[in-house]
Amino acid sequence: MKYNSIAIDGPSGAGKSTMAKRIAAELGYLYVDTGAIYRTLGLFALRNNADPGKWEDVEPLLPQISIRMDHGTDGLQHMYLGNEDVTEEIRRPEVSTAASKISAIPQVRAFLMDMQRDLSKQHHVVMDGRDIGTVVLPHANVKIFLTASAEDRAQRRYEELLSRGNDTDYETVLADILERDRRDMGREAAPLRQAEDAVLVDTTGNSLEESFRILLQVVRECFQ
Ligand code: C5P
Repeated sequence: MKYNSIAIDGPSGAGKSTMAKRIAAELGYLYVDTGAIYRTLGLFALRNNADPGKWEDVEPLLPQISIRMDHGTDGLQHMYLGNEDVTEEIRRPEVSTAASKISAIPQVRAFLMDMQRDLSKQHHVVMDGRDIGTVVLPHANVKIFLTASAEDRAQRRYEELLSRGNDTDYETVLADILERDRRDMGREAAPLRQAEDAVLVDTTGNSLEESFRILLQVVRECFQ
């Protein structure tokens, strides 16, 4: 059977996961959050006192790591390190930074490639990340590049962190977003960029509902 795939790429805090989750629910597709996979690897590096930005620190860890994901009946993508559910822990700000650093290592990206591609061979998927339309699923049926101004993205991320009980301030979150943009766009391995055949959607100033309506329309037009 041939499965459909929808790739949603864009910078941190653009609302990719919220939108991808809703589109997946609307169409009955599997939602795959690839950032969560990099985060899990980043957490593993931190726990092992490895510098997530250094290949020589990360390399010896790869044969030991057991990353698993499970799409439970609650529709959430749970991430496991061995048997431990780390779904909540990988959202901590220091894990975001570790994920951003570890994902710049080409060997790490290659290591995680099959895991991502295999899912698209077994399910209709909505997959979000940085390189889904350009590298992981270059033949995706629909490619969307979702973005918004850095200030809008920082505000949303700030509110999300507060709601999760993280103690932070807007300026710190904005600085972190700008730094992650710089790293994601500037790296040599699969840098964040819009695929030539992706539709650009800028959600600056939009409500969630407006953004969702626009994206759903883009998806429907691509399938017509
Ligand atoms: O999307 P999220 O913010 O959870 O991703 C965490 C980090 O993982 C990002 O900052 C990015 O550097 C990296 N990432 C990536 N490629 C992907 C998904 C995430 O490089 N496909």
